[in-house]
Amino acid sequence: MTKLPKKIKIGNLIYKIREITDGTEEYFGKSSYAEQEIALTPELKGDKLMEVFLHSIIHPILIQGEYHEENRDEKLITLLANNLYQVLKDNKFIN
Ligand SMILES: [Zn+2]
Repeated sequence: MTKLPKKIKIGNLIYKIREITDGTEEYFGKSSYAEQEIALTPELKGDKLMEVFLHSIIHPILIQGEYHEENRDEKLITLLANNLYQVLKDNKFIN
């Protein structure tokens, strides 16, 4: 996994970022508010990595804001993550 930090602060909480290592988890990315952890599959690279990373950040943002129903809306979260990444990238806010 490249480019990503080991930790990220979301709201007032610091989340650890780790690779999914055991191969049994069925997600590309997984966020745990309880464990303050974001786990990502190491096969992800480039644009796909960033989309999944942003998706994994939006989940804790929604939970911390008590948007529990919206937090279950995977289509909405993917829409927000992918388009936010596109805007940031195509307008050169990030590489
Ligand atoms: Zn999700």
